[in-house]
Amino acid sequence: MKDFIYHSVKDIKEARKLASSSSVFLAGGMTTIPSMKLGLASYKDIIDIKGIKKLSGIKVSGKTLIIGATTKHAEVAKSKDVKKTIPSLAKLAEGIGDPQVRNRGTIGGSIANNDPSADYPSACIALNALICTNNRKIDASKFFRGTFETALKKGELIEAIEFEIPDKSSYQKHPNPASRYAVVGVYVAKRKRNVNVAVTGAKSCVYNEENIASALAKDFSASAVNKVKVTSSGMNADIHASAEYRASLVSTYAKKAVEAC
Ligand SMILES: Cc1cc2nc3c(=O)[nH]c(=O)nc-3n(C[C@H](O)[C@H](O)[C@H](O)COP(=O)(O)OP(=O)(O)OC[C@H]3O[C@@H](n4cnc5c(N)ncnc54)[C@H](O)[C@@H]3O)c2cc1C
Repeated sequence: MKDFIYHSVKDIKEARKLASSSSVFLAGGMTTIPSMKLGLASYKDIIDIKGIKKLSGIKVSGKTLIIGATTKHAEVAKSKDVKKTIPSLAKLAEGIGDPQVRNRGTIGGSIANNDPSADYPSACIALNALICTNNRKIDASKFFRGTFETALKKGELIEAIEFEIPDKSSYQKHPNPASRYAVVGVYVAKRKRNVNVAVTGAKSCVYNEENIASALAKDFSASAVNKVKVTSSGMNADIHASAEYRASLVSTYAKKAVEAC
């Protein structure tokens, strides 16, 4: 690991002031530390944001659930507010990694990292989330741009994520047995005006499976999913699953999610 300067900051202004093209924010460190140890990444300045009180916590405001960026997965999993308003989100958090990862990893770190197999990006798309940064609110549909790529500018800090509370929702995933990352994960959220079907793990980036979503908007049933052909074109293929298997998992887990709703 190359030399770096560690900064523990107490407010957003200080974090922003230190941010540069050769810095990284340290939230849970669950991605940053292994990447540095493996020599895959190196930084001049490590800006530890865990001490910024304003970035952590969960609250409900009308039809919106707001989760601070440094809130840990374990906190989301056990939160009464999350369980009451969007129980599927608490279940998603409970299924991330192992207890160590859930007690260090944060929602903001997961979203900023945008691993193509991460769970939270699917929640952001399905639940019409707004990603609130130090200077703007970004619609989730414009935030996740590609593999490990987001709309964040260098040094831009996520402060919170605002989730629209749906009428019904469910997240179902086929986990990698070692890491628990999603081989394929499907988040279905239903509201009076529409249905979202966000898929993670299947392609290079999270996406909304429009064909299943519009079939479900007309007929919210597992049999409606059966009528939609999910094509394997553009799907990931690796040692865990072929593109064709992933396509079939999208249908299977969309049906499971609808049934669980
Ligand atoms: C063994 C293992 C198993 C895992 N299993 C799963 C799984 O099943 N599902 C899943 O979804 N994930 C999984 N993860 C990922 C994990 O849950 C973390 O969410 C993820 O590693 C990043 O979060 P972090 O808080 O640790 O971020 P860090 O590692 O601290 O930071 C990661 C990146 O995000 C940036 N960042 C962090 N916070 C902010 C912020 N507030 N604003 C802007 N940028 C920010 C940092 O600059 C850095 O580039 C796993 C990780 C490990 C190590």
